[in-house]
Amino acid sequence: MIQAIAAPIVNSDSSHKQPTSLLADASKRLEKALRYISISEDTIARLSYPKASLSVSIPVRMDNGSLKIFTGYRVHYDDTRGPGKGGVRYHPHVTLDQVQSLAFWMTFKCALLDLPFGGAKGGIIVNPKELSKAEVERLSRGYVNEIADFIGPDRDILGPSVYTNSTIMGWMMDRYSTIQRQLTRGVVTGKPLSLGGSQGRAQATARGAFYVIEIVLPKFNCIPQNTTVAIQGFGNAGATLAKLLFDAGYKIVAVSDSQGGIYAPNGLDIPRVGEHKYSNREIKAVYSRDTVSDIVEHRTITNQELLTLDVDVLIPAALENQITADNAPDIQAKYIFEVANGPISSAADEILNNRGIEVFPDILVNAGGVTVSYFEWVQNRNGWYWTLEEVNQRLKHKMAAETQKVWDIAQTNQIDIRTAAYVHGLKRLGEAMDATGTRDYYTSD
Ligand code: NAD
Repeated sequence: MIQAIAAPIVNSDSSHKQPTSLLADASKRLEKALRYISISEDTIARLSYPKASLSVSIPVRMDNGSLKIFTGYRVHYDDTRGPGKGGVRYHPHVTLDQVQSLAFWMTFKCALLDLPFGGAKGGIIVNPKELSKAEVERLSRGYVNEIADFIGPDRDILGPSVYTNSTIMGWMMDRYSTIQRQLTRGVVTGKPLSLGGSQGRAQATARGAFYVIEIVLPKFNCIPQNTTVAIQGFGNAGATLAKLLFDAGYKIVAVSDSQGGIYAPNGLDIPRVGEHKYSNREIKAVYSRDTVSDIVEHRTITNQELLTLDVDVLIPAALENQITADNAPDIQAKYIFEVANGPISSAADEILNNRGIEVFPDILVNAGGVTVSYFEWVQNRNGWYWTLEEVNQRLKHKMAAETQKVWDIAQTNQIDIRTAAYVHGLKRLGEAMDATGTRDYYTSD
C-alpha cells in the first residue's frame, strides 16, 4: 500500500558518514519516493549508506619502464537482493562519491527490473586515451588483482561502463580466473562472445530504451513518422538507439558527440552519419551515393543547443548532469528519455516536472544493459547459450512488463514517472530487507 511516511532518508546520527554531494543528489529521488510508499525505518536506514567502499592503489609498469600508481574504487551499495552488479568506468574524473552514486542507481535499477542482484560500481581514475593498449591491459588486470577478494560470481559481478569494453571485460575475467585457479566466467559480464559473452549484449542498452519508447509514446498518441528526436551522445548507446529509432520511422533531427552536433530539421540519414563517424571519427550529415558524399542541409550546433531544440523527444545519452537548473527552463522537448546515467540534476527535475515535461528515468530507460548482463550471468552458470532472438525476446518481455508497472504506479498515484520508478524498486528492496527481520519482528509479541 502506498502511503506517506515521515522518517528521514539519512540517519541524523552524526557518528555515521553523511552522503556527499552526488550521492546526496541521487538520494533526493529516494526521499521523494518515500512519500508514496510505506517502508520500514530499518530499510531506510540501510539504504542511506553504501554497504562497503573499497579504494585501491594499482601499480602499473608503463611501456617506458616507469611504474605508475593508479587509484581505483569498487563500491557495494546493497546486496540484500543478490550479489552486487555494476560496471567499471575508466575516466580522469572518477571520484569515490561518483562511484557510490552510480552504485546507488544500480541498486534501484536491479530491483526495478526484478533482477536477483544488488547494486555495485567500480572506477579507475585514468584517461585511457593516454595509455597504450598494453598499458590498459596491465591496468585492467592490476585492478582485478587488488579487488579480487571483493568480487565473485556470487559476491559482486563486474561489467563494462564508460571507456571500458568487451576486450577489457575478457582480460578481467581471465585475471580473476587465474587468481582463483578456476575458470569463472560469471564474475564479469559484457565479455566477448568467444569468452562466454551473450548475444545482444552490445546493443542491449539501446534496445531496452527502444522498447520503453515504443511502449510509452503510443500512450501520448505519438506516431513515429510525426515524432522528432534529438540525441546527445553518439556512442555505443546513443548511436545504436538512433539507428533503431530511424529504422522504426522516427525523425532524428539532431545528434552530437563530445565535439558538438548537427541539426537537420527534415531529419538525418542516421546510417550514413554512423558510417561517417565510424570511418572519420567526426559527426557530419552525409549522403553516400556510390562513392559520392554530399552534405545534406544541416547546421552544426553545440551540445547545449541540442538540449534546447524544439523537438518532441530528447535523449541524453552521454554524461551526467547535462540538464541542470540553469538550462531546464529552456528545454522544449515534451518527452525526455534518460539513456545516460544521471543526466538531469534533481533541481532540474523539479523544473521539468512543473513545466509538464515527461521524464523517463535512467533506472528504467537504460536498464536493458544490465538485464542482458543478467542473461549472460545466467547463461554462464548454466552453460546453455541463447540465440540473439531469444535474448531480444526475453529483454523485450522484461522491459515491457516493468515499464507498464511503473506507468500504472504513476497513474494510480498521480506522480511523475521517476518517482514511480523509485517507488517500484523501493517496494522490492523493502520486502527483501524486511524479510531479514525488522524492529517489529523483534519487539512485537
Ligand atoms: P560511449 O563512450 O560509447 O559514448 C559516449 C558518447 O558521448 C560519445 O559519442 C562521446 O563523444 C559523447 N560525449 C562525451 N562527452 C560529451 C559531451 N560533453 N557532450 C555530448 N556528448 C559527449 O558510452 P556509452 O556506452 O554509449 O554510454 C553513454 C551513457 O549511457 C553513459 O552515461 C553510460 O553510463 C550510460 N549507460 C551505458 C550503458 C551501456 O551498456 N553502454 C548502460 C547503462 C548506461
